[in-house]
Amino acid sequence: MKTNLKNLTLEELKQFCAGEGLQSYRSQQIFRWIWKKDKNRFLDITTLSKKDREVLEEKAELPQLEIIKILKSRDRTKKFLFRLTDGETMESVYIPTKKRKTVCVSTQVGCTLNCSFCMTGRTGYIRNLSSWEIVDQVRRVESIIDERISNIVLMGMGEPLLNYENVLKAIKIINSELGMNIGARKITISTAGIVPGILKLAKEPLQIKLAISLNAATDAKREKLMPINKKYNLRKLFDALDDYYSIKRKRITFEYVLIKGFNDSLIDAKNLAEITEDIPCKINIIPFNSIKNSKFKRPSPIIVKKFIDYLYPIAQAVTLRESRGSDIEGACGQLRARR
Ligand code: SAH
Repeated sequence: MKTNLKNLTLEELKQFCAGEGLQSYRSQQIFRWIWKKDKNRFLDITTLSKKDREVLEEKAELPQLEIIKILKSRDRTKKFLFRLTDGETMESVYIPTKKRKTVCVSTQVGCTLNCSFCMTGRTGYIRNLSSWEIVDQVRRVESIIDERISNIVLMGMGEPLLNYENVLKAIKIINSELGMNIGARKITISTAGIVPGILKLAKEPLQIKLAISLNAATDAKREKLMPINKKYNLRKLFDALDDYYSIKRKRITFEYVLIKGFNDSLIDAKNLAEITEDIPCKINIIPFNSIKNSKFKRPSPIIVKKFIDYLYPIAQAVTLRESRGSDIEGACGQLRARR
């Protein structure tokens, strides 16, 4: 079988080149041409010698994600639907603002977690994405929009910390100076609260950001939204976050999807402020985005404002996430690739 060079970190590519008798500097060259110049054929890596190219053609390959659809929102958000080499499909979302060009990438096809308010869970779980399938989402989006991507959020379909090795490898490639060269501080992993993954991540020498999908401030409510809370309850989650913070010393973001009549009362706000008071953090309020056949509803703007006004003086830092791309089902929690 041919080796997929897009699945290799620079270090691994170096080993591959050594094994095939290519000089060491070639690995940097190849890596740069793949990820910086977006070359997907050995023929197009014009600095290679004829002999090296022949070796690579025989032993290696450079697959590409196939874009099957691009949906454009009125607010300039774009949703990309990709077909994978095994026929599965998944999505990324491009979210431009004046300051930032962000790509929200998927880490799995489907998801195992089955959160009751999220669209992705409904497809069930199909498989993990490999590292190249994660990085190539960014690569393809950047090449289409023809603008430098500045930020990456791993908040698309799937749970990144349940695909730990591939996600970390993808981040290393995205972060690499010879690769896509996006600073670690511009990369955010969002998790439903996979405790062993959080503890493992704490030990990685990478300055990436961590976001936790909290969504409720009591176990009783959180369990109703997120079955994973039965395995890792709030106590276990916050213990892990304490450990994480004591090692990383980096502020954590909590995401809180605001659902009408479920977690949007002032008591909910008070509980939220209390549960987060001992850890340096920022709270990001996300008004629920409607999904089909859901018992959940989005709160009115007045309720959202009341919740935030009440929370603001008693919590550390609060922001309201503006909904982008909802007309193309590209907003938070709406992603679900349909075939
Ligand atoms: N599994 C990871 C990443 C995917 S979910 C995680 O749980 O963080 C990304 C974010 O979208 C989460 O914060 C989640 O709470 C939010 N989300 C899911 N469904 C939503 C919906 N219908 N409306 C608004 N936000 C939603």
